[in-house]
Amino acid sequence: MRSAPSRAWTAAIRRPGFWRRLALAGLLLCAAGHAAASDLAERYPQVREFFPSADRFGSFSGDPRAAPVYAGNRLIGYVFLTKDMVRIPAYSGRPINNLIGLDMAGRIVGAAIVEHEEPILQAGVSEADLKRFVDQYTGKNAFDKISVGGVREGHVTIDAISGATITMMVENATITGSARRVAESRGLGMPAKTATPQLVKPSAPAAKTPAPGAGKAEPESLPVTLADEPLWVLVWSERKLKIALLMAGLGVLSLILIFQDYLAKHPTFLRYVRNGFMVYTVVFIGWYALGQLSVVNVLTFVHSAMHQFQWDTFLIDPMLFLLWSFVAVALLLWGRGVYCGWLCPFGALQELVYQVGQWFKLPTHEFSQMVHERLWALKYLILLALFGVSLQSMSQAEYLAEVEPFKTAINMHFLREWGYLLYAGGLVAVSAFNRKFYCKYMCPLGAALTIPAKFRIFDWLRRHRECGRPCQVCAQECEVQAIRKNGEINPNECHYCLDCQVTYWNDRKCPPEVERRKRRERAGRARELVAGMEETMGRAGIEQVAVPPPKRRDPPDRGSA
Ligand code: SF4
Ligand code: SF4
Repeated sequence: MRSAPSRAWTAAIRRPGFWRRLALAGLLLCAAGHAAASDLAERYPQVREFFPSADRFGSFSGDPRAAPVYAGNRLIGYVFLTKDMVRIPAYSGRPINNLIGLDMAGRIVGAAIVEHEEPILQAGVSEADLKRFVDQYTGKNAFDKISVGGVREGHVTIDAISGATITMMVENATITGSARRVAESRGLGMPAKTATPQLVKPSAPAAKTPAPGAGKAEPESLPVTLADEPLWVLVWSERKLKIALLMAGLGVLSLILIFQDYLAKHPTFLRYVRNGFMVYTVVFIGWYALGQLSVVNVLTFVHSAMHQFQWDTFLIDPMLFLLWSFVAVALLLWGRGVYCGWLCPFGALQELVYQVGQWFKLPTHEFSQMVHERLWALKYLILLALFGVSLQSMSQAEYLAEVEPFKTAINMHFLREWGYLLYAGGLVAVSAFNRKFYCKYMCPLGAALTIPAKFRIFDWLRRHRECGRPCQVCAQECEVQAIRKNGEINPNECHYCLDCQVTYWNDRKCPPEVERRKRRERAGRARELVAGMEETMGRAGIEQVAVPPPKRRDPPDRGSA
């Protein structure tokens, strides 16, 4: 007796048109396979130079992902992208993506950078220099220990390029780390002679064990090392001066925050301090040290925490590591405003442009409170969309994170294709007319920073009980319209510029303070009057004068620390 599946199969075969449909599906599958293969060579024409005898390329598959290369029916090697397995942030804070070809002996037959954001021009290094550096890997074995620019025992030496040390160190760790992972997973040129080359089928489970006879298993994810030291140790020692200058800047900012009341009472001094700090932020943190944080850092952190957290990944860039550490503490003590108001290079650039615009008396336009509050939501939607995409594909999310103009305006110093220039330049120009437009409505990083800021411990911004009831003076001055009609400060939107604190202490502008000053002046005048009367009438005469009862004391202000 036949089973149910077998009966269903027989019925399906007997159905009219079954064989025609099966043949069509087969054709489509072949076409898709061929398209994927030809896609690879079309997308990365370098693979033809890597493997001149190849007549067929498979598609990226397996773990780690690599595409098989064939000459006739013979497998002659693999091609892979380094970003699929080793993602070390380089000088720009982003990984460098290389296309590498490995032959069956585990020899690198070609290497080419396909994507990078390194600001090499600033260091006087050209793309041709970078290409020459990467070309040196051709002919090396995936298991060679490679030393850049210095002879070391047991290492193969390649030449360094002056001015791009960090980029080279990261490239070396990226190329050797990824080549080794692919060679191990496919059994290419394994040190043990008995290693057998093997094909990894598409969607094969993770190859966590080495090929037969290859000896001891290596960890799934290789630690990022150059020679015998972790790469980040070398990077930190390479950037001592920048680290010192950043630490000094963070120290100054801590003092500013601690003595904010003193500064708010001395507005001219505060203006110089704040403008000076913003210039430091744009020029040093942003353009020179490339310390612009990005929503991509947040996504990487979340994914890393969800999967395989490694401190090495975050320590590799000391600027970003120190900034994020400071921001984490500042979020708990002061909220997101400390980063957005003081440490974000693009935020500071917008604010400086606004101030220059004011100096030239450019007209400004702010949206009504209702429109403004609806537009706030946009940045949260952008953040959600990026997070959703990152769950599916981190590279896609990184690509979409170009909604942040940081890369163009800060990391690449506006040296980019015109489309990007138009976008970033447009946002900077808009900020001259609508203060911090991008921050208020579009920035997914600003939106992400509001989430941990919910756990803020202190409320250091002072408010009078009259703020918002009915006084709206500082609400109208707030650079990001973060003060609600009822006088409360919205900590999610506040950029901690301290303008409202300057107004708070200004007894010529802030109505409750004006009232207090007038009371003080009246009391002073009364004392002078009494003293004069004492002189003329004597003590006995004064006691005849009625003294008004003392005024009721005001209840304490809101929001005092
Ligand atoms: S909102 Fe975004 S661009 Fe603006 S200061 Fe904050 S992080 Fe920077
Ligand atoms: S004016 Fe006050 S509420 Fe507005 S951003 Fe500055 S510190 Fe925050």
